[in-house]
Amino acid sequence: MTPLLMAVHDAPIPFTGSDGRVHLVYELWLSNFSSGDVTVKQVDVVGDGKALETLDAAAVATRLQAAGQRVSAGTMPKGSQGLLFLHVTLGPGAVVPGQLSHRIVLRAEAAPPGLQEMTETGGVVTVDRAAVAQIGPPLAGDGYISADSCCDATRHTRAAMPVNGRVWVAQRYAVDWEQTDAQGRIYVGPQDKLESYAIFGKPVLAVADAVVASVVDGRPEQTPGKYPTNIPLEQADGNCVILDLGGGRFAMYAHMQPGSIRVRKGDRVKLGQAIGLVGDSGNSVVPHLHFQVMAGNSSLSANGLPYEISAFRVTGKTDGTAAFDEAEEKGTPLAITALSPVQEVKDAMPLDQLIVSFAAR
Ligand SMILES: [Zn+2]
Repeated sequence: MTPLLMAVHDAPIPFTGSDGRVHLVYELWLSNFSSGDVTVKQVDVVGDGKALETLDAAAVATRLQAAGQRVSAGTMPKGSQGLLFLHVTLGPGAVVPGQLSHRIVLRAEAAPPGLQEMTETGGVVTVDRAAVAQIGPPLAGDGYISADSCCDATRHTRAAMPVNGRVWVAQRYAVDWEQTDAQGRIYVGPQDKLESYAIFGKPVLAVADAVVASVVDGRPEQTPGKYPTNIPLEQADGNCVILDLGGGRFAMYAHMQPGSIRVRKGDRVKLGQAIGLVGDSGNSVVPHLHFQVMAGNSSLSANGLPYEISAFRVTGKTDGTAAFDEAEEKGTPLAITALSPVQEVKDAMPLDQLIVSFAAR
């Protein structure tokens, strides 16, 4: 008997992160098909027969989320389903495995006494070697914060949503770009004024030569500093643009200023062309640019895809999401550890909570 069923619905696509490592990000679906609790004690991610990563019980407990839950736990009640959010990294030059599987050590309450501890193997998946989208920067200038970027921040990477009869993680690699001034402040002046925010009104740039796949405009700005209430899911992106990058890849920009979008559906845009201005429309707490790439012309019912930005500089790292949240809420300087020398990055995804400079326009 194997009480846990395992499956991977969306195979990981390896990409290079701004740390120079290769990252594999995906979800292992677990179903407890037994009549009692199952506690997951250890998970080994196995690549072509050898262990790549081991999660102990404590690590599993921070990464296993039951369907419909935002909290994580290492024990699955009978009949329940959950997603184990996995993030495997490989050193530069390491061979990317062709196939992944998972060895799980667990305790099943429904098994007879003495037989409750067991090890299962499953969730076999072929690594997806689809070409990673190579794009330009979505913004220009200095002091941008890659908030809630890949791979262990929860707000995007774990945004598994049931839409049209299937769970999608469209935001798996999304970033909420914000910006600091020279003193590390996200806003200066009244918290509830759009103009107080460093990023407000910055041009949003086409990340490639592309065709405009969809445009939504005319949605109002929110009042910064508090989450809007009663925003329907289909209006969550606010004023947004989706670009068809070709090859089944689409780039999405959300929360732009009403009336600022300069392109229409069907237009051809050029790499670096300004398509609108950063705003605070839709489900947005402060002005920011939500940017993601996905496998369809929909910000919700499409598989989130990795991408690599051609060139940027990492000038610092923040103290993490909690420090960022506090600076965003209070307007106090964000604790930043400056990198010296600054890191010049080519063809990589900006990872979470970095201070990033893009080329000036
Ligand atoms: Zn976002």
